[in-house]
Amino acid sequence: MLYLSTRGHTDRKRFCEILLEGLAPDGGLYLPAHYPQIDAQKLAQWRGIWDTQGYAGLAFAVLSLYIDDIPAADLKALCDKTYTEQVFGSPQIVPLKPLQAPGAPTPELYLEALSNGPTLAFKDMAMQLLGNLFEYELSRRDEELNILGATSGDTGSAAEYAMRGKKGVRVFMTSPNGRMSPFQQAQMFSLLDENIHNIAIDGVFDDCQDIVKAVSNDLTFKRKYKIGTVNSINWARLLAQVVYYFAGYFQATKTNAEEVNFSVPSGNFGNVCAGHVARMMGLPIAKLVVATNENDVLDEFFRTGVYRVRGSADTHETSSPSMDISKASNFERFIFDLLGRDGSRVAHLFGAAIHEQGRFDLSSDPLFVQAAQRYGFVSGKSTHADRLATIRDVFARYGIMVDTHTADGVKVAREHQQTGVPMLVLETALPIKFASTLVEALGREPYRPAQFNGIEALPKRVQIMPADTALIKEYIAAHCD
Ligand SMILES: *Cc1c(COP(=O)(O)O)cnc(C)c1O
Repeated sequence: MLYLSTRGHTDRKRFCEILLEGLAPDGGLYLPAHYPQIDAQKLAQWRGIWDTQGYAGLAFAVLSLYIDDIPAADLKALCDKTYTEQVFGSPQIVPLKPLQAPGAPTPELYLEALSNGPTLAFKDMAMQLLGNLFEYELSRRDEELNILGATSGDTGSAAEYAMRGKKGVRVFMTSPNGRMSPFQQAQMFSLLDENIHNIAIDGVFDDCQDIVKAVSNDLTFKRKYKIGTVNSINWARLLAQVVYYFAGYFQATKTNAEEVNFSVPSGNFGNVCAGHVARMMGLPIAKLVVATNENDVLDEFFRTGVYRVRGSADTHETSSPSMDISKASNFERFIFDLLGRDGSRVAHLFGAAIHEQGRFDLSSDPLFVQAAQRYGFVSGKSTHADRLATIRDVFARYGIMVDTHTADGVKVAREHQQTGVPMLVLETALPIKFASTLVEALGREPYRPAQFNGIEALPKRVQIMPADTALIKEYIAAHCD
């Protein structure tokens, strides 16, 4: 499989070349040159793999269609090592939880549980694989990598838990000092591994991001210290997420003649873009429901055809904070497909148009209607009040607590139900990560998995620093012998 850029660059690369890279040289995102097609026979074969070899077997089947520069036996071993019951808490790895009232003939919805990995958010699903892929590839090349990132919570902790103790990798993770939830701070700062560096910046999340950008723009420093990232535009992360759409489908259906819908709590459009890839491969998905919070950049696009990025002043701080985005960094991938893979048009829209006008408008383009008609996308938005109401309703009806992001997914899923088509809502985090809103909704603390008891009292390893790029560079240099 070869990979190309969404902005039309003529280079074609292989998987391991793009694995450790961020953007393509022209500023675009990488996508496979084509989507391998899963016909009826293949889908039947994959259902068999799911039944007999489980998640790791299915992951290998999906990944091997996109990765041909890692020997099959090695790739299989990486999948087997990543997706274990020990790490993800159940033999199915991503079990379905039906929301079904007593006596009802069918469940109203299913939650697909993606949040039982080490940091209790779905980002572990991809990041755990990435950690093993990085270690494998770096050792093969005899190279090192220093991952520099900025996080407001879920991404940073998932990256640290995936990279801890891995040979050849160090993580320097900046976060806004004092602004993450106490549980999230405890999760990250209690990691004592030598290759993990927590840097709490006196400032807000944007300051952290600015520092990461400034360091990455210093090409001499970047090369000398082998600085890399693990952000959500990484193709390997997206690819890993394709697997659980297949796993969800096989669990919710008995035959491959059936269709399902997925509702996806969305921010940077990484998770639902993986659903788009699965659907392009031929998985029988009727609708992909994009659920946003008050930061409704994506809902606005799917309703109106206008994509309008927000300034930091119009980005809301919400109670589903992992979806608080001003622009959706993976969205360019879908627009590339929507516009018939016209790289020069995508380069114009995400280059000049966004830079000069902060928006582009496809409402009068005949291709826009295909977003829904051909690609199955629909959308909706959920607010703080909706979130509280949904958390209360799901708990009252089914005795199940959902986190704030998953609640957004449930709220919007309910607006797009079709009779006879199972609706799967991706559970993107567990409620304990966002306890204060759960307490606001239900008046009680959410359930805490046993391994997290007392985590807030553990010793912490974190360096507090001012928002000063030069000092961060010094810190990195000093810790990269
Ligand atoms: C990251 C995250 C999201 C958003 O996922 P995208 O891939 O950015 O759309 C939703 N919910 C939770 C809990 C997250 O951590």
